[in-house]
Amino acid sequence: MQNKFKNGLIAFLLSWSLFNSCWAQDVGDTLDQAETQRVAPFQVFDNLYYVGAKWVSAWLLETDQGLILFDSLYGELTDLVIDSIRELGFDPDDIRYLIVTHAHYDHIGGARRFQDEFGSVVMMTEEDWNMTNEPAIYQDYPKPIRHLSVADGSTLNLGRTRLRFVQTPGHTVGVLSTQFTVYDNGYPHDAFMFGGVGLNFSGVDRTEMYINSVKRLMGFQGIEVNVPNHEGSGEVFERYEILQDRQDGDPHAFVDPERWTAWLDQLLIAAEAKLIDEQEAAVN
Ligand SMILES: [Zn+2]
Repeated sequence: MQNKFKNGLIAFLLSWSLFNSCWAQDVGDTLDQAETQRVAPFQVFDNLYYVGAKWVSAWLLETDQGLILFDSLYGELTDLVIDSIRELGFDPDDIRYLIVTHAHYDHIGGARRFQDEFGSVVMMTEEDWNMTNEPAIYQDYPKPIRHLSVADGSTLNLGRTRLRFVQTPGHTVGVLSTQFTVYDNGYPHDAFMFGGVGLNFSGVDRTEMYINSVKRLMGFQGIEVNVPNHEGSGEVFERYEILQDRQDGDPHAFVDPERWTAWLDQLLIAAEAKLIDEQEAAVN
């Protein structure tokens, strides 16, 4: 299984470079359409649901005081998120907070809609709020109204649920990562959402930032569940298939601390190779 997952990561990193290549337009058209991107929403833990698309993820965290949504997707894919939330029997009006992992259109693009239609409070780092004042990098999106800024080390409590925020700069300067608890039939597991892992940025400084972020996460003890904001970087659909066939006594397919550690190792290797390229480019 490890090899299959490793291939998944390579495919994901490759897809990012393809995404930025000159023929990205064709790929982009397919990526942007709800019909081709639709995924039936599903429950992964007692309190965590997948409500995203095929290529970019959104997650719904249920608390005793309302809902928390991670990422809004964009355009038609935001409709898909809203439909998915309703399909699971939840009311989007109950979304108290929308956590935006970083200010690229695929994660932030629908944020304004959640503010306007459902009164959700949008949370993001100061650095990425500032990005919303600048022209969008890949694709334009309706700019959200500035709500709450989240700093490294801060926490959010909603009912009995606590989120702990970690700023992991690199992919953008303000990538927001979140640590929280998921429950498997009442049994708690430590989950983590790394808010931006693609290497589609440039510069020695940014690459060093990224490497420092990955190294810092390597020092976090006890993380058991990877909750990725692109399904390919956490093998979400493959794991869900395994989860559906789970028998009594089987482990939960998403609880995989070894794979989390191995994934960080792979991210570090890729980033260190990029650093060498960036350093060479800087002296030429
Ligand atoms: Zn991004």
